[in-house]
Amino acid sequence: MSGIRIGIDLGGTKVEAIALGPDGTERCRIRVPTPRDYEASLEALVELVARLEREAGGTGPVGVGIPGTVSPVTGLVKNANSTWLIGHPLDKDLAERLRRPVRVMNDANCFALSEASDGAGAGASVVFGVILGTGVGGGVVVDGRPLQGAQLIAGEWGHNPLPWPTDDERPGLPCYCGKRGCVETFLSGPGLERDHERATGRAWTTRRIAEAIGQEDGGARAAYARYVDRLARGLATVVNVLDPDVIVLGGGMSNFPSLAEDAQAALASWVFTDHVRTRVVKNLHGDSSGVRGAAWLWPAP
Ligand SMILES: [Zn+2]
Repeated sequence: MSGIRIGIDLGGTKVEAIALGPDGTERCRIRVPTPRDYEASLEALVELVARLEREAGGTGPVGVGIPGTVSPVTGLVKNANSTWLIGHPLDKDLAERLRRPVRVMNDANCFALSEASDGAGAGASVVFGVILGTGVGGGVVVDGRPLQGAQLIAGEWGHNPLPWPTDDERPGLPCYCGKRGCVETFLSGPGLERDHERATGRAWTTRRIAEAIGQEDGGARAAYARYVDRLARGLATVVNVLDPDVIVLGGGMSNFPSLAEDAQAALASWVFTDHVRTRVVKNLHGDSSGVRGAAWLWPAP
């Protein structure tokens, strides 16, 4: 009855935990609000693991996805927008309390790993998983393993500058990272909202913009067209360097109907090749990719 893998997605507002069987099927799932305090978060995770194991009737290794990384230099969490995790050795503290090894990884890498393992990128050798949400991130999986890199930032294309900028895209808006004109300032949900408002004077949410596109609204459609072209430019620089087989789109913006197909079509204008074979696809597991990928951080039992 052992032989499960446990995945936890420690998000900014909710913690989600699942137990996967040896073949990757889901045995059970629990969701609780995220405590906004480090000690309370540790306690919540220990409690979640205990509940999962009772319900799934087994035990196994634990993988945790976080909105940040554990620094290879200090062993402490950095770059997390769940700021109460910053400066703590989350993997060590959890391993101690759970009395087993724990792997902690950036949530964008977990997304990419999930989609590469049994999602929209299954069977592909090189998968680039893209998060287009409140922020813009990404992760790279090569032959089923996350590529982390020397700084653990492999795939973090959101803080590259928007490539081939037009005059009205320069110098771009300030980004929280300290630079201007980052890909994230254009391709996040708030980035689309700002662009649409600047052009139309309407302060609409991405959801409202999406609805208006369906109703043939000119301003919304124009903002979406600019978004697709910018997405294609941003992805083209990734393709020129990494040349992935598949790009999987995730995050709230990936729910725009036909975004993957439109980005695929626009990519050909920008990639340094005569024929783009890289496929751009929507994710398969939706919001569950993060937690599934965390479980996939461990090999099958
Ligand atoms: Zn930035």
